[in-house]
Amino acid sequence: MAENLRSLDKQDMEALMLQLGEPKFRAKQLFGWVHGKGVESLAEMHNLGKNLLAKLEQEITLPPYEVLARQQSVDGTEKFLLALEDGQAIECVLMRYRGDNSKHRNTLCVSSQVGCAMGCTFCATGQGGFVRNLSVGEILGQVYAVNRYLQDESDERIGNIVFMGMGEPLLNFDNVLKAINIFNDEEGLQIGIRRMTISTCGIAPQIERLAEQEKEIVFAVSLHAPNDEQRSEMMPVNKRYPLAVLMKACRHYQKVTGKRISFEYALMKGFNDSDKHIQQLQQLLQGMDAHINLIPVNPVDDGSPYRRPSRREVLDFAGKLKARGLACSVREEKGTDIDGACGQLRGKVQQKKREGQA
Ligand code: SF4
Repeated sequence: MAENLRSLDKQDMEALMLQLGEPKFRAKQLFGWVHGKGVESLAEMHNLGKNLLAKLEQEITLPPYEVLARQQSVDGTEKFLLALEDGQAIECVLMRYRGDNSKHRNTLCVSSQVGCAMGCTFCATGQGGFVRNLSVGEILGQVYAVNRYLQDESDERIGNIVFMGMGEPLLNFDNVLKAINIFNDEEGLQIGIRRMTISTCGIAPQIERLAEQEKEIVFAVSLHAPNDEQRSEMMPVNKRYPLAVLMKACRHYQKVTGKRISFEYALMKGFNDSDKHIQQLQQLLQGMDAHINLIPVNPVDDGSPYRRPSRREVLDFAGKLKARGLACSVREEKGTDIDGACGQLRGKVQQKKREGQA
């Protein structure tokens, strides 16, 4: 299959123009169409000339955006299931935050892989297994597709990106980093690096690699349990990189970047919400500039062993953390009525397809 034009950055486009015998300034024009405007077809690039468009058609693909399914929450959150060229599908979630200027924003939670090999027990994607990494163009295409959708209804667009959708972003490291740089480009969407978040389940060596590469990005770690026994039970990655190894990598990251790290903690009633857990969290994060993001767990299905705490219980837990000097907040929940956890919509559509074939 020819390469997706959206996977090319400026240098790649300059090389392509050179190969096609075209002047260098064409690469800049092409970049503006693909990454600035997020066009869906070569025909939209009206200033490139018929000759060049014909040559491009031979060399690359520019797949149109195809929304297979869409769910909208009562709070305005929307989940999109997008088709990929090879028949696979990925999810991304648009979260609309409304308030005064600083709080008014559209954030897109994007996927970095089709499926995921990490097997976290609370996650629908993890339970479906790994298929493949997304290309740079497929990562970018999620934001471009939703921007087009937004522009149909208003002049709004995505201003923040979080890599918390399907897949482990640090296991598709090069493509994720390249996509981030293109999102940030002044002729692309110009999304500030500090408006992008990478969240990892804890791939320790890649955290050290990230520290050397991208110092301004917001970095988050899915912690969920403050001891090895429970974390390994929920997140098999912990057997490979137990907490001592993970926290060493996080401390290294902070030393190199000087940035605060967010630790995601899905609060599960009767599982990780006791005073003992608070004590363990305190020991784990001692001396670090850390922020704990509490998320009341969203059970994957009715048979899930994880129970959701009440709002009161979440606030009590947060209060106890703060009393011990730990910075924390309760994440504003979005889309809990639309299969909010990642992988659930894709799982449902796949299930329907199987039922249709049976
Ligand atoms: S939570 Fe993230 S890392 Fe874990 S299985 Fe799901 S997608 Fe993969």
